[in-house]
Amino acid sequence: MSTGELVIDDLRAGIPGREILQGISLTVRSGEVHAVMGPNGSGKSTLAHVIMGRPGYEVLGGTVTLDGIDLLALPTWQRARAGLFLAMQHPIEVPGVPLVDALASARAAVPIDGSASSTPDIMGRLHDEANRIGLDQRLLDRPLNVDLSGGERKRNETVQLAVLRPRFALLDEIDSGLDVDALADVGRRVQDATDEWGLGVLAITHFHRLLDVLVPDVVHVLAGGKVVATGGPELARAVDRTGYAGYV
Ligand code: ADP
Ligand code: MG
Repeated sequence: MSTGELVIDDLRAGIPGREILQGISLTVRSGEVHAVMGPNGSGKSTLAHVIMGRPGYEVLGGTVTLDGIDLLALPTWQRARAGLFLAMQHPIEVPGVPLVDALASARAAVPIDGSASSTPDIMGRLHDEANRIGLDQRLLDRPLNVDLSGGERKRNETVQLAVLRPRFALLDEIDSGLDVDALADVGRRVQDATDEWGLGVLAITHFHRLLDVLVPDVVHVLAGGKVVATGGPELARAVDRTGYAGYV
């Protein structure tokens, strides 16, 4: 069981000439689910990208640490190696590379379940996880995300997460494009992971429905690159009822 914390402290970041994140602080502990909500353009995806180290963004101040390790000093692959995973809002197509190959290389680079010596049966786990989440097994051999429906891409991301077993996952609208049943499958898989290996989750979402399954310990509302409200699950319900008008 993983224990640790992902600490974001006064993070300021943006693109050249524009500060998008204006001092974000939050701490996700192992096993916790933090939801990040907020209007379009408030900086939610930027937050996920900056934590993961996507090129094109610059950090202007603050820190992001995983158990004290300075993530911002590391290239993206080493952040993954430290135990971080990002499910992107718009998963990219990787022509020519099927999921099975992508995962095999990822597992080779990332210590497995925190231990480089253990070698679980990746293919077995992949098929189990695909079954568990209702992802058609035939998709596992197809090029990554090419010609997949929105829902299939999100199930696909969730399967990757479940096979790789990162310590902390950033989920950027993992629920977008999912029908009610897929939403429940994805939400439940991630929720189970918080118990199974103590996954810590930062889940960006607009919808309360995901959070009925993936139950947040803490909900943050982001507006204009700042956390403008923090609360429990009731905050997500309030946002659902009243919209963001009261927070921006
Ligand atoms: P959200 O995910 O909350 O909808 P984003 O983080 O995607 O918001 O974007 C926040 C703001 O920063 C938006 O105005 C967006 O256009 C801008 N932005 C984000 N990333 C980039 C980028 N790579 N280049 C230019 N503008 C960007
Ligand atoms: Mg976004």
